[in-house]
Amino acid sequence: MLEKIAMTVVVLITLALFARRVRDLVGLLRMGAEDARKPTNLGRKLKEQLVVVLGQRKLLQWTVPGVMHFFIFWGFVVLFTTIIEAFGAVYQEGFHIPLIGRWGPLGALQDFFVVAVLGGIITALAIRRIQQPGRFKGSHTRDAEYILYAIGGIMATILLVRAVEISLGIFPYDVRWTPVSNAVAQLFGGFSVAVREALDTVFLWWHSLIILGFLVYITFSKHLHIVTSGFNVLFTSERPKGALKPMHLDLEEMSEDDVFGAAKVTDLSWKQLLDGMTCTECGRCQSQCPAWNTGKPLSPKLLIMDIRDELFAHGRQLLDAKNRGEEAFKEAVAELAPLNPKVVEDEVIWDCTTCGACVQACPVNIEHIDAIVDMRRNLVMGESRFPREMQSALQNLETTGNPWGQPPQTRLDWMRGTSKQETLDIPHISEAPDAEVLFWVGCAGAFDDRNKKVTYDTARLLQKAGVSFAVLGADESCTGDPARRMGAEYIYQMLADQNIEVLKEHKVKQILTACPHCFNTIFNEYPQFGGFFEVIHHTEYLARLVKDGRLKPAKDFNGTITYHDPCYNARHNDVWKGAREVIESIPMASYKELHRHGHATFCCGAGGGRMWMEERMGKKMNIERTDEALASASDTLAVGCPFCNIMLADGIDERHASEDMTVRDISQILWESVEFEPDGDASTGNGDASGYPLTKDTKDMTGTAAGPEDTATT
Ligand code: SF4
Ligand code: SF4
Repeated sequence: MLEKIAMTVVVLITLALFARRVRDLVGLLRMGAEDARKPTNLGRKLKEQLVVVLGQRKLLQWTVPGVMHFFIFWGFVVLFTTIIEAFGAVYQEGFHIPLIGRWGPLGALQDFFVVAVLGGIITALAIRRIQQPGRFKGSHTRDAEYILYAIGGIMATILLVRAVEISLGIFPYDVRWTPVSNAVAQLFGGFSVAVREALDTVFLWWHSLIILGFLVYITFSKHLHIVTSGFNVLFTSERPKGALKPMHLDLEEMSEDDVFGAAKVTDLSWKQLLDGMTCTECGRCQSQCPAWNTGKPLSPKLLIMDIRDELFAHGRQLLDAKNRGEEAFKEAVAELAPLNPKVVEDEVIWDCTTCGACVQACPVNIEHIDAIVDMRRNLVMGESRFPREMQSALQNLETTGNPWGQPPQTRLDWMRGTSKQETLDIPHISEAPDAEVLFWVGCAGAFDDRNKKVTYDTARLLQKAGVSFAVLGADESCTGDPARRMGAEYIYQMLADQNIEVLKEHKVKQILTACPHCFNTIFNEYPQFGGFFEVIHHTEYLARLVKDGRLKPAKDFNGTITYHDPCYNARHNDVWKGAREVIESIPMASYKELHRHGHATFCCGAGGGRMWMEERMGKKMNIERTDEALASASDTLAVGCPFCNIMLADGIDERHASEDMTVRDISQILWESVEFEPDGDASTGNGDASGYPLTKDTKDMTGTAAGPEDTATT
């Protein structure tokens, strides 16, 4: 009886401590800024729970640690039954779970998972102690090891309890199903019944106390993710992957208390605070981050940990203040340190290219980019503190509608081509209102000399295929991608409004662009402002023209091509097939995949507005990527993005490797093969003046752009 009372008291104290901590954590989340997200797409949410949480898909992308975690996770699920059995045994000798508690296969499963989890723990310790991967740099490794020892203790005591129960003849399962427990039971065969009964009590208490201690400890440690990760995945953004968090901006409505973006930890949304509580410190994000991998101070893992540490450091004081009333809470918030540079250094915030590698790698769906951009928004719009070289790009965007600061009237200069080329004749959309496709040229395509050639070749390909298309010329402005990612949301919204109005005015149906950033912004972000347009990237469109026989590559390509996937195509929008299909269609072209390709591509360094910032620390990202391309021993580095084109061509120049490798857009490579006409037959397209309507398949390709897990219905 005394034992039962003692266990009841210990369990109740533990549950009270656990409940109190959970209440405090929920209280801290409620201090975060509003985020109206709700899990609306229930099918998608169910799939994510099945695939990401239960299936551990993201973790399994890393085979050894993935399998190790898979066994530990499922071990906890299955062995929950042994925990019930252990507590039940304290209250009733020979306790078993009703209905399934004597079922042999359950006993076998328990035996299997005890061994599997012990194996997982040994593997985890070996990874941490022997392999010591760089992704753990900065993580709380000691805390992680305590937890591993605790889990090991739980497994060991499960085995001991089962073994003693077998030796006492009170084990609920047929021992033929539980060979491991049965083998351990042989250790106790020589003891008297009284000793074995005493050992049973000791092991049961030992087991129960570790579990109860574990239950409280996890809520104060990085293993809080055991409790929060299911919720974090449930509340993962339903936005398309490439779309940034919307920001309501009405300068006239704003009061003195309103802040732009995130100035203090409590300005982050509750979801961003939940992200911090959910971080497992596994470092998968860090290991993929191009900034960290080239020696910059930015680590997405440390950034999330710093946010969480700041919240927890002031958590008690904030909760107490909240209990005293709104005024006291405001005073407590006022005393918090600014997020930048006190919690996260400014440099860290500006190093990010918004490439998305961290978000993709994170096994618990943490959204690092949203937090980074919220801090940028505060630095730019609230503090006016940003790298000085950004100033001219932002000013140019505001005054001329392009970061180069070129007069809008010169947007069509690319049509003239080089001195040896004939000027193209392409109508303005107002002269060709029935054009099936609007060719969105983009600022780089209109003003950068390297990319003007790409624009020219893309247009020539469209003409050759008989596509009915038009351009906007001076009516086109920057989509606002760099402004938004730099944190200058007001400039972005001004440009977005302007472009959406023009596109609507001309009743544009489909937009074709050679720029992944324009593609992403118009397709994924303009819907936030009422602009719903069908957009396709030129690599996908050209692949379709080739497939349909409208373009016929004829000239042999004597050499090897490799392709650099732009982050805003491959990772943010799942657009990566078209470029490879075009290359495959070129006679004699041999193709080599870069080591990091597709979803795992490595950023060229220009995204997130970094194109307009100096890269002062570490190795330059474009050089890192150029070195990888050169290592492929290909002759041509194909690209599908004007910014990658500039960055990688600069990389080749800096490596003095222009004789070994040339950087060319997919359009340029295709044009060279298509313009060659062995039969003297100039017409490869069908010359259909009605243009090239997007077929069902093409629409499917556009849909692919939003990704299989996205819900964009643009
Ligand atoms: S978005 Fe890319 S650069 Fe930014 S933190 Fe994540 S991995 Fe690093
Ligand atoms: S943010 Fe995600 S990937 Fe990065 S350390 Fe935390 S859990 Fe791991």
